[in-house]
Order: sequence, then C-alpha cells, then structure tokens
Amino acid sequence: MARVAFIGLGNMGGGMAANLASKGDSVRAFDLSADALARAKDAGCDVAGSAAEAVKDAEAVVTMLPAGKHVREVYESAVFGNAPTTAILIDCSTIDVATAREVEEAAQANGLTMVDAPVSGGIAAAEGGTLTFMVGGSEDGFARAKPHLEKMGKAVIHAGGAGAGQAAKICNNMLLGASMAATCEAFVLAQKLGLDPQTFFDISSQASGQCWSMTSYCPVPGVGPQTPADRGYDGGFAAALMLKDLRLAMEAAKSVDSYTPMGAEAEELYTRFEQLGGGGKDFSALIKMIDDSWQA
Ligand code: NAD
Repeated sequence: MARVAFIGLGNMGGGMAANLASKGDSVRAFDLSADALARAKDAGCDVAGSAAEAVKDAEAVVTMLPAGKHVREVYESAVFGNAPTTAILIDCSTIDVATAREVEEAAQANGLTMVDAPVSGGIAAAEGGTLTFMVGGSEDGFARAKPHLEKMGKAVIHAGGAGAGQAAKICNNMLLGASMAATCEAFVLAQKLGLDPQTFFDISSQASGQCWSMTSYCPVPGVGPQTPADRGYDGGFAAALMLKDLRLAMEAAKSVDSYTPMGAEAEELYTRFEQLGGGGKDFSALIKMIDDSWQA
C-alpha cells in the first residue's frame, strides 16, 4: 500500500485515482471541481483541501491536468516545497514537450525526481486500468514510477529522458490524426466511385492500405469492429482532444524545424471540424465533414 497524492480528477484522472484506491493505495485526492472530489470520495479516495495538503507525506504524486500551464502552476504553487524529496512525481497529463522539460528541471532543482508519463487509451481504459504509459525521465525515476503506473495500466514503456514520454505521445497522435483523415478520405472516395464500403474494407484491410484507423477504429458505421461510428460517433476520443495533440505536435515540430506536412494538414482539417461544431464528437466523425454531410 502506497501513499499517493492524485491531483486532477477529471474524465481520466477520476478513473485512474479510483483504480489506485481499489488496489489498496491510500489516495489523497484534489481537484478544483467539487463534483470531481465527491466522485473520488465515493471511489475510496481521501479528499484533500488543497493540492499542497494532498502532497504532504506522499510517496508518489500523480497529476492528470488539462495542459502545460496547469501542470506548471500546480507544481510551482503546491508540489515544490510541500512534497517530500523522497516522493516520485509523475505527470500523466498530455502537455507540450518544452514545459515538461522545464518542470522536470525545476523539480531537480528542488531536489525532487519527476517523470512525464502521458497515456494512450481513453476514459474506458482509465477506468479499467488498461492504459499504456510512455515515460520520460531518468532510469531511477522510471524504476520508481513503474510500480505505481502498473496499477493503472497494461503497459509501461520507458521512452527516454525528460520530455520523451510527451514526444512519443504527440508523434503517435500526429500519425493517428493523419491516418484517420486519410482513411476517411479513402472510404468517401471509394463510395463515390461506386464501391461498397464493406467491400472496400475487406480488400484494403488485407492490402497495403491497412492501418489501425481502418481495421481497429473504422470511421464507417457497420463496417469492421464496433467503434464510435456505430454509436453516432459518441464516446471514444474527442476530436477536440485530437486537435489539442496535433497542435502540440506542430508546436514541437516548429521548435526543432521538422517538416510535418501531413501533420499540418491533419491539424487544419480538425480545426475546421471543430469550427463546424464537431469538437465533442469522436475524432473518426471527421468522415462526415469529408463527405460533406456533417451537421453539428
Ligand atoms: P478533464 O478536463 O476531464 O480533467 C482535468 C481535471 O483537472 C478537471 O477535473 C479540472 O478541474 C482539474 N484541474 C484543472 N486545474 C487544476 C488545478 N490547478 N488543481 C487541481 N485540479 C485542476 O481532462 P481529461 O480528459 O481527464 O484529460 C486530462 C489529461 O489527459 C489531458 O492532458 C488530456 O489531453 C489527456 N488525455 C485525455 C484522454 C481522454 O480521452 N480524455 C486520453 C489521453 C490523454
């Protein structure tokens, strides 16, 4: 049983904290939202009055916050100076690589060990404890974070030094955004050329166009395995979150002068989709914009 401080109990963090509590950890939870705190309490967590109070005496501090500015703010105002130097600090939020590296440096300066450990897998995986963690940080930091992450996920992979977890996450999601856009385009064109979508799936899923966006997450209802397309594109991975990750990828690409034309195009497509009101839908709903039938 470990003493874990958990800060950020939203869609993802709520399920993750509940998993730690269900596995016997003593979880001291904090969120700005009273509703989120009440849900954490029902799931067996102890509720703290502030982030600073939550991290006192913690063996591990886990943060699951919206963006880099929230992570910096929580670390600067509550974690530094309050968490014991023996605690391992684990940020599971998806944030920009530069902030991840800066906060890790600040942690070191405060005598603390921090890793970035963003996740792959959505709300269902957070609740089910089947997330994949990609971890950036020192060997020692990774070894200390791993037992905690294993309670919340099915795979924990060391990606490299500080920020490498975030780099892996945004490169993966840039690839996913571009491959989903290309899959949507291919299905719409195939149909306009007179091909039945199921027939195109049967061919392409066994031919060289095969990819995860087609065979595991097909954007066409009734084709391939059950996906958000079969539920009116509800649930799943929101297009707004895909856009967030694509923006992080473009920002990172700019910072190292890397040419990412497909990622830039995917960002442009998801920006347009969000402007049309699709941000809350699963990211595979992009197909509705591509075939021109989207109604928010
Ligand atoms: P969310 O908005 O549901 O939850 C974030 C929580 O942080 C909220 O409850 C909010 O009140 C809390 N918060 C914000 N500032 C705070 C502060 N200063 N102190 C304490 N609490 C604070 O977001 P989410 O969907 O749970 O996502 C969290 C992170 O995980 C994001 O970085 C997101 O990109 C990433 N992610 C999300 C998904 C997904 O499917 N939702 C999948 C993979 C990764």
